[in-house]
Amino acid sequence: MQAYDAVVIGAGNGGLTAAATLARQGVNVLLLERHNIPGGAATSFCRGRFEFEVALHQLSGLGTVEKPGPLRALLDQLGVTDKLEFVPMTDLYHIVIPGQIDMTFKPDRQALTAELQKQFPKEASAIEKYIELVYALFTEVIGAFYLQDPEISRDKYPVYFKYALKNLQEVLDQHFNDPLLKSVISPYWVYMGLPPRLMSFVDMAAMLFAYCEFMPYHIKGGSQALSNALADSIISDGGTIRFNCGAEKIRVKDGRIQGVLTQDGQEVKTHYVISNASKVTTYVDLIDREHIPAEILAELRQSTLSQSAFTVFMGLDCEPQSVGITESTNFILNHTDAELAYERMKVIDIDERDYLMLTCYNLIDADFSPQGTSQIALVTLKYGDPWLAIAPGEYAREKFRMADSMLKVVEKVFPGVQAHIEEIEIGTPLTHMRYLGHPKGAIYGFDHFIKDSTLFVPNKSPIKGLYGAGGWVGYNGFQPTLESGVHAARSVINAMKK
Ligand SMILES: Cc1cc2nc3c(=O)[nH]c(=O)nc-3n(C[C@H](O)[C@H](O)[C@H](O)COP(=O)(O)OP(=O)(O)OC[C@H]3O[C@@H](n4cnc5c(N)ncnc54)[C@H](O)[C@@H]3O)c2cc1C
Repeated sequence: MQAYDAVVIGAGNGGLTAAATLARQGVNVLLLERHNIPGGAATSFCRGRFEFEVALHQLSGLGTVEKPGPLRALLDQLGVTDKLEFVPMTDLYHIVIPGQIDMTFKPDRQALTAELQKQFPKEASAIEKYIELVYALFTEVIGAFYLQDPEISRDKYPVYFKYALKNLQEVLDQHFNDPLLKSVISPYWVYMGLPPRLMSFVDMAAMLFAYCEFMPYHIKGGSQALSNALADSIISDGGTIRFNCGAEKIRVKDGRIQGVLTQDGQEVKTHYVISNASKVTTYVDLIDREHIPAEILAELRQSTLSQSAFTVFMGLDCEPQSVGITESTNFILNHTDAELAYERMKVIDIDERDYLMLTCYNLIDADFSPQGTSQIALVTLKYGDPWLAIAPGEYAREKFRMADSMLKVVEKVFPGVQAHIEEIEIGTPLTHMRYLGHPKGAIYGFDHFIKDSTLFVPNKSPIKGLYGAGGWVGYNGFQPTLESGVHAARSVINAMKK
């Protein structure tokens, strides 16, 4: 039987940084991945002359060499920054509500404030106060949680204590009157999947702060370049990666990790496992029922799954400007009712009531696709349930029907897109289910209601030697999942020392 100090299950962002951190510290680590390439969602695929980016729209927390964000420091430590070329995005986002608003913001606190004030002069001082609050709140969160202050108190962190349990809608309503302004300032709720009524204001502050303070970035070669660089780092530091080889079982005895059975039937001995697979896969599929702690079963029963995504990947035979696309990150909606947009995520159909996100990668990196072409990802969030109810024989028809509906909405904003499609591929909730192994294709893991904040809920398993990394044990997004792997690996190293 082969033995490793630690086994990491899944080569998504969290699994890759976990294995890379362990390997760098001299831990004999095995990384198992069921797919044939690293990355999980952080990946790409090829159609015709296009290599399509799957997930990365805006990378947060990187910052510049002079003013590094937390992610740059992390990637530096893993030795991958030098192997990658990061491209700053000059736009924070472009938001269009046809007939009502069409605005683009720069990733800069002053510019964002000024632009909002110009458009909504009656609410100028409220805008200033709101942005000030976002910064004050997140500065306290950094001090208390990122820098791990051992004495967190109301006196030291008054803004955090005041807002920790507030939802985004409450704070928007306290500050603003105009529903249009509330929509324009908060489109990032779709990056979490919870409408302002359900989303924590702290989470929105975190995103706005991270993107404004450190700018959104892209990576030359897309997210696959990052995943490959992390995999290379693991191997060059002495770690082992096995692709096309998932974990079949996690062996547990008397509440302790004993090993892992691989999908090709090999028993691997280890006392430490970091699972980057979904929490449902980890506890329900990989661990035998008699070893699943009761509190975990209770937690799983109480949790609800987030949305999946419906994505149309397009390679256009023209430059984006010729179909009117001039910004990289575009939020497209036709109303200001976030609750309606949220309800629409529960049905399969797509129309102008849905919230669409359009990313054009060539406006960040001109070389992202062959010269004279452009690559576009058109995404809307959708729950997996209605897709699971479709008969297999109907799947392809429904997929194309929905893509067609989505393109009709986009045509109204960017006329001519459809006529220029050279390559098209469609990803549905079932695609995410298949490739990521996530239940119902949930791309954001479990819903992150205010009560579920990782600031309150520790990432600890009652099974000794078992740790989690990735979007199912904390927040989703590149920065949080990459960070979570490092945290999990450090916990393993600390436990080994003990
Ligand atoms: C369409 C889309 C758009 C997004 N846009 C952005 C964005 O712009 N910015 C941003 O920051 N984030 C974005 N995200 C979110 C971000 O991509 C994810 O949060 C992140 O990639 C998830 O990483 P993870 O560590 O949770 O691993 P995952 O990507 O979930 O990967 C898990 C891995 O585990 C493997 N696995 C599962 N079961 C097993 C098993 N039994 N054995 C071995 N391996 C197993 C899977 O094959 C997979 O490789 C987006 C996601 C999607 C899907």
